[in-house]
Amino acid sequence: MSVIQVHKTPFTGGLFIKTYGCQMNEYDSERMAKLLATTYGLKLVDSADAADMLILNTCSVREKAQEKVFDELGRWQKWKAAKPNRIIAVGGCVASQEGKVIRQRAPIVDVIFGPQTLHRLPAMIKQSLDLRAKNLENKKIKKKAIIDISFPEIEKFDNLAAPESNGVSAFVSVMEGCSKYCTFCVVPYTRGEEFSRPFADVIAEITILASQGVREVNLLGQNVNAYQGLMDDGDIADLALLIHAARAVDGIDRIRYTTSHPNEMSQSLIDCYGEVPELVSHLHLPIQTGSDQVLAMMRRGHMVLEYKSTIRKIRKIRPELTLSGDFIIGFPGETCDQFKQTLALVKELNYDRSFSFIYSPRPGTPAAEFPDDVELSMKKRRLQALQEMLNEQTAQVSKSMEGSIQRVLVESLSKKSVDDLTGRTENNRVVNFAGSAQLIGQFVDVEVVEAYKNSLKGALVATPEAHKYSNTQYIAL
Ligand code: SF4
Repeated sequence: MSVIQVHKTPFTGGLFIKTYGCQMNEYDSERMAKLLATTYGLKLVDSADAADMLILNTCSVREKAQEKVFDELGRWQKWKAAKPNRIIAVGGCVASQEGKVIRQRAPIVDVIFGPQTLHRLPAMIKQSLDLRAKNLENKKIKKKAIIDISFPEIEKFDNLAAPESNGVSAFVSVMEGCSKYCTFCVVPYTRGEEFSRPFADVIAEITILASQGVREVNLLGQNVNAYQGLMDDGDIADLALLIHAARAVDGIDRIRYTTSHPNEMSQSLIDCYGEVPELVSHLHLPIQTGSDQVLAMMRRGHMVLEYKSTIRKIRKIRPELTLSGDFIIGFPGETCDQFKQTLALVKELNYDRSFSFIYSPRPGTPAAEFPDDVELSMKKRRLQALQEMLNEQTAQVSKSMEGSIQRVLVESLSKKSVDDLTGRTENNRVVNFAGSAQLIGQFVDVEVVEAYKNSLKGALVATPEAHKYSNTQYIAL
């Protein structure tokens, strides 16, 4: 990793980051916070009022994303007027797509950066501060936002602060971008083509996190299973090899990966479900629709049968596998029959906690030009029908967990009661149960007593490890 330049800080307040969107954006926001703590000594604060710097990390996946950004910036005008020395930065996918428009329409913005240039943020802030100083000396210089929304690819990972864990579970970005160009999606245009971090860098980061107490890693990427990491010997590692290597890191006992593309579910990755017990029995594998015609219109590059075959193969190895997905309803021209095929697929495969949206056009994507004769009211009815089915399936999965013993990674004290702990099951359900704080960071067996809508209530199962830290008597069964 390269040396990060520390700047003289003019800031007395903290840093406030507002994040929209996916886990990649959450991860990027964490990285920005660490970078600005290292370079400017800025500490994260919970409210904009206590901040000297405000960052809006935007997402363009949802509808009207651009308007939301300008609404937010409108609200921040007062904040800037109260203390004009404050800095406002806009990053993420909307910045990447609309950087120049933001500069024109929102003069309060000082810095505009893309997902691949967030490592340049400290230097851009310095440029903006220098420009401001010059502007004070010479009124003729017009202050404009500093903008860099290029795609310097791997450079980003080499110029970020060293990883630091916030708990027992951590995200590790292993690749970024996407080269699939689905017709409805802006990601390839906002985050650039797929590129993977070198294998040794990823493993080094996981090793550091493990030494800080992390027990679970979530390997992250827009198309994480397209990972192709260069190894020291010149070979290329796929995600399966990375999972095997992560498993070998001392302290790492649970591995997740997200988000995957059906076309990248290689045999070596499927085999991991039989070879790597640390890999969770939960898979998020978006399909978007149950219709082959709509898949073709979306340019997803696979058919429903291939997707089902992948799930069948994994469930053969791990019958307990729970599955989640993403669904787009009302893609331009979607017929009633095509929608019914989506319902049939959901019914057949049985999903757990999935995401579903009504299609909305993204400027610059091919699908935005497709003729669409489906009424919005019809799309809403279809979405409701799908969500009812998905919600029912999710509730059934939760209910089926009642009475079962789950392996839980204990994350923290429960927010609701100091006597309770909070942890997560393999299928990412939050479970609360009574136990000693000394169990935080350990895996324990918990019996699920009751399933609620968003969490589970559990009871610690008496094991020698749990008994060491509890007041109850351990009875070997
Ligand atoms: S695979 Fe398709 S939907 Fe997913 S990020 Fe790439 S272009 Fe977007």
